[in-house]
Amino acid sequence: MTPYAGFEQGPIRPPSEADSLLIRVNRNCPWNRCTFCSLYKKRKFSIRPVEDVIRDIDTIHHFTKEIAAGAPPQSLRGDQQEVLAAWSWYCAGMESVFLQDADSFTYRPENLLRILHHLRERFPGVKRVTCYARSASLARTPDGALKELAAAGLNRIHVGMESGSETLLKLVRKGVGKEEQVAAGLKVKGAGMELSEYFLAGLGGTELSREHAEESADVINRINPDFIRFRALHILDGRDLFPDSGDIRFRPAPDLVLAREIRTFLERLDGITSAVRSDHGFNLFQEINGAFPGGKVCMVAVPTRFMELEPEQRVLYQVGKRTGHLQRLDDLQRPERVDPVREMCRKSGITAANVDERVHEMMQERMRRGIY
Ligand code: SF4
Repeated sequence: MTPYAGFEQGPIRPPSEADSLLIRVNRNCPWNRCTFCSLYKKRKFSIRPVEDVIRDIDTIHHFTKEIAAGAPPQSLRGDQQEVLAAWSWYCAGMESVFLQDADSFTYRPENLLRILHHLRERFPGVKRVTCYARSASLARTPDGALKELAAAGLNRIHVGMESGSETLLKLVRKGVGKEEQVAAGLKVKGAGMELSEYFLAGLGGTELSREHAEESADVINRINPDFIRFRALHILDGRDLFPDSGDIRFRPAPDLVLAREIRTFLERLDGITSAVRSDHGFNLFQEINGAFPGGKVCMVAVPTRFMELEPEQRVLYQVGKRTGHLQRLDDLQRPERVDPVREMCRKSGITAANVDERVHEMMQERMRRGIY
């Protein structure tokens, strides 16, 4: 067995877990083949020994106890990452924990249970423990094990559905089919856990946009997850999104196509009680927040409003949103926010005819500089 390499945290967590303590149970992604995801591409998957994870939990326990007793952070003797993790979590109220990295259900359920029990014993005040899981791994986990994990405190699972389209799931090598997505989601709900499903807007490009929206809505309608979360596709040029496609070529969806896709997806959602969150800065419409069924009309109105804007206003929004000057469509009424965007468009020659191309270039630059 490899010796303990010290306290570890992985590279990402959902935005909704910003206040959570990050506990890394495995490293990177066991699948690592989705064509749109570069996060773990050059990194090897490995499962951390339970004893190492427990040691990480004990380290945080030790530091948070010292902080609670009045020790200033600079007096804590430890590695910078573990001290910072303990201090941030203490300041955030120590109420939630997120298990990393990409798929915690590659961990054996009995080992996951040991970790959950240890967490609860060390931190009885924790109200929520969550993780990412692949539908394929969830589908393999016995119902009884899921229920035991729920009873031990694993109370929310984040699943990257991305799409419900069978064609698209195959094209992007998601490694899971539509029916498996539905079955996995229903299993999580049946075990009494909360479920967040992610919809990746733009994944079908222009050609598969409608199918992507309709089939994804169908999956969601059959699961009725607690949360639906929007993400937007952004990949660096040169990446082949559909490597096995034959005739189907990926062409990025212009913003008008994207807005129509989001509207179709929302319109097709029916018979559910899910909350919707558009909680990522890359999303075109961050104001799509609400809950079904009552919030549907207001949420559908957001992409519709964008589609009905005068072309000049639409250009200002597209550029303003991607440059951080505008956060929502209502910001178009704020001259102090819009004027710099108008000036930028004038100086750079951005018009309705070239805006999608120019926005694409801007996003490429952001990604090259690692700004997500
Ligand atoms: S399963 Fe998730 S983390 Fe792994 S490659 Fe696919 S999108 Fe990326």
